[in-house]
Amino acid sequence: MAYKDPQGPAARASQRRYRQRHPERVAAIQRAYHLKNYVPNGRPPGKVPRPAIDRLMEKVDVVDGCWLYRGGKSSGGYGKISEAGETRLTHRVAYEANVGPIPEGLELDHLCRVTNCVNPDHLEPVTHAENMRRARAS
Ligand SMILES: [Zn+2]
Repeated sequence: MAYKDPQGPAARASQRRYRQRHPERVAAIQRAYHLKNYVPNGRPPGKVPRPAIDRLMEKVDVVDGCWLYRGGKSSGGYGKISEAGETRLTHRVAYEANVGPIPEGLELDHLCRVTNCVNPDHLEPVTHAENMRRARAS
């Protein structure tokens, strides 16, 4: 049998059919374990958010070497995404996931000058002053 993603659409459809066919079994399990949102063979109870980097990379188009983020953007044109209850800039999330932690106090300069690009190769950690100097020079 083909691999079925336990959280994918095929698995969700199968879980839905199971709940429709065997409502008494599901109800018994819910009563037994006090799990209101119990789904047999599926997602564990409670919401388990997917990592921001995974959600982010699904919304990327590669154009001329830039990884353009198609999701929501800040007023400055930077991509943004929520993680653990806070809004984060997508280029910082992508850099941390692909390269490593951004040194304390530094900003990521877009060497390609495309603000919604999240390609870590196009990002360089610099001081705020250097970032401003380069922005003026470009
Ligand atoms: Zn770029």
